[in-house]
Amino acid sequence: MINHILHLCALLMVVSSVAVASPPSPFDQFRVLADPHYHIIRGERPKGPAVIFSAVVDKPYDVKHYNLALNFPEPDNFFEGVAEITVESLRRINQISFDFVGMVVDAVYLGDTTLGFLRNENILTVGLPDFVDSGEELKIKIVYHGTPDSGMHISDGTNGYFSIFTLVEPEGARYWFPCFDAPSDKALSDLTITVPAPLTAVSNGALISSSQSLIPDIHTLHWRESHPIATYLISVTIADYIVVEDEWNGMPLQYFVVDEDREKATKTFGRTAQMLEFFSKSIAPYPFIDEKYAIVVIPGGGGAMEHTTATTFGRGLLDLSYGEAVAVHELAHHWWGDDLTLTDWNHLWLNEGFASYFDVLWYESIEGSSKLLERMEKYRRDYLFESRENNVPIVNSKNSDYNSLFNAITYEKGAWVLHMLRRHLGDDLFWKGIQDYEKAYRYGGVLTDDLQNIMERVSGKNLYQFFRQWIYTAGHPRLDVDFEYIRAEKTGVFNVTQIQDGDAYEVDLPVRVKIGGKWQEMALPILEKNQNMYVSLESEPEIIRFDPENWVLKELTFRQPEVRWITQLAESEDWYGRMDAARGLGVSGSEEGFQALLSRFQDLNEHQLVREAAAEALGKRGDSRAFQPLADSLGQKEYWVRVAAIAGLSYLMDERAIPLMADILRDDESAWMRMAAARGLLPFKKNPVARAALEHAAEKDESREVRALARKILDS
Ligand SMILES: [Zn+2]
Repeated sequence: MINHILHLCALLMVVSSVAVASPPSPFDQFRVLADPHYHIIRGERPKGPAVIFSAVVDKPYDVKHYNLALNFPEPDNFFEGVAEITVESLRRINQISFDFVGMVVDAVYLGDTTLGFLRNENILTVGLPDFVDSGEELKIKIVYHGTPDSGMHISDGTNGYFSIFTLVEPEGARYWFPCFDAPSDKALSDLTITVPAPLTAVSNGALISSSQSLIPDIHTLHWRESHPIATYLISVTIADYIVVEDEWNGMPLQYFVVDEDREKATKTFGRTAQMLEFFSKSIAPYPFIDEKYAIVVIPGGGGAMEHTTATTFGRGLLDLSYGEAVAVHELAHHWWGDDLTLTDWNHLWLNEGFASYFDVLWYESIEGSSKLLERMEKYRRDYLFESRENNVPIVNSKNSDYNSLFNAITYEKGAWVLHMLRRHLGDDLFWKGIQDYEKAYRYGGVLTDDLQNIMERVSGKNLYQFFRQWIYTAGHPRLDVDFEYIRAEKTGVFNVTQIQDGDAYEVDLPVRVKIGGKWQEMALPILEKNQNMYVSLESEPEIIRFDPENWVLKELTFRQPEVRWITQLAESEDWYGRMDAARGLGVSGSEEGFQALLSRFQDLNEHQLVREAAAEALGKRGDSRAFQPLADSLGQKEYWVRVAAIAGLSYLMDERAIPLMADILRDDESAWMRMAAARGLLPFKKNPVARAALEHAAEKDESREVRALARKILDS
């Protein structure tokens, strides 16, 4: 699943990496915590009782198959259901319990025999006529009806078009069908859905039959998923769709959209075959190749969900530049999540960290290493932003609030762990490990230990420390670095201090130095909280770069003379080196440093991340001459340039910026821009103009996020 409000919020922040310490920015202190589940898609979280996780604790059976027949008599999310659940008993039993919340149960049968049943708030318990021995198969039929309190949502058409859709991750399937609602019990499924014409229904697997063309008023569609999947991946989506058809290796690719979205869908999903090709070659053959791959577009905003072979995709994404990246992420889940499924939600990074990294790997395969660098840098910033408020390990087995896991620790830091594992093992062993891991657990369940074991077997390396420090420990290394050159001994001394709380990290830190116009590569083996490392160097380096290809998740502060940053900014052929240098120049310094930053910021051909870093650094230097160029950029077309300019102005603390930001907060069309402006006004909130704009936003802004953020800033 992905929801981009988190990611966009994170783009608004400012993080200094290779730079001297700077005062905390308002951008660091405030964010809007978004509900990652329904928020964007629904606008409001659907009403309903809170999910009680894994309500059925005693489960003496294994679900083999769900056969669901759902009849929607009207265009509404009221339906009549028949759930035929095939289970195998795992011990001698005379009753059986399912997770089921809300809807009315009319009757329960075993064959022709009517069974008694009991319900409490979350559980349906069925009495069996006799004891059943271990290993026996039973088919329990549950007849029910009603409108689900949650899990199945309705869009009445006011935000685009009429639609009914299910979205339940992590454990909300129980709101629309009785089941054992935990990801550890995967099962096959058949869904037969009857809807009034002209609506149609899309679900998992292959289409077995469709009455669509036969009966004018009613459509019945039968979908069959022939591979075991978890309950959170079973889905139904209903709307008046057309299908944009494509094909890959003889398998149908289908994009279910409303007619007017036909062209946008072709554009956003046009490279799906290419993605399938890449993942199938690099990981394993597409696990559902005997069925289909479909994307089903629902009205609303920017979320998406990897329902097996029927990815649900928020319509708003069709208009956004990163819509395709979300599509790659959801497709990657068809290996990581849908094929190999976590058996415990606390290992969610095995789904989300993987999908997030494999999205980037696909772009790397198409666009090269600069794209890899850029995406990982954005992930790094998203993660750092999250970790300030929510510094938790990727896996914490004691956690019981699974909703809390859908965050940048799981997604972005999870992706970073794979990125670092790739460097630690080397490309060949990394990919061999990935392939072996998929093969060993194809269609099955996984935990983090399974991945570690396979990677250790493939590489012959002991990965205990790697997994301990990156997966089971919160945080990341925060490195303070100094460098001194001892001329008489032709020796460079690197002093590295790990200033984070807790144990020392063990990392190899790549270093690249330029001496006499030539680059030299080395790696500093960092093991302790404070270390001096001596390196023999012919002369004093002109440029020193740490981790120049961004392979280590860290915050690094390097103190060095300004002139070396200026040289790095001027001479780095790669944008990443220039970005680092721009950050390094974010303290007051020489005229030359100011001019160098200004020209990077104003160069329209410069990389986005360099221009952002330059805008922030201009603000941090506190030179009032930065005001005009930053203010002028507020009129530029690109959203990110304007956000960068607001960040720069906010650091600059120049009161002339107040009316500009107040105007943006009141009038800008984009909620993201208004949020950036609200953050930018934080340092000025005692000023009457700033205060009035914030108060207006807190009361009147049409966006809930903007209102909440403005309120939070006023109350701080
Ligand atoms: Zn996801």
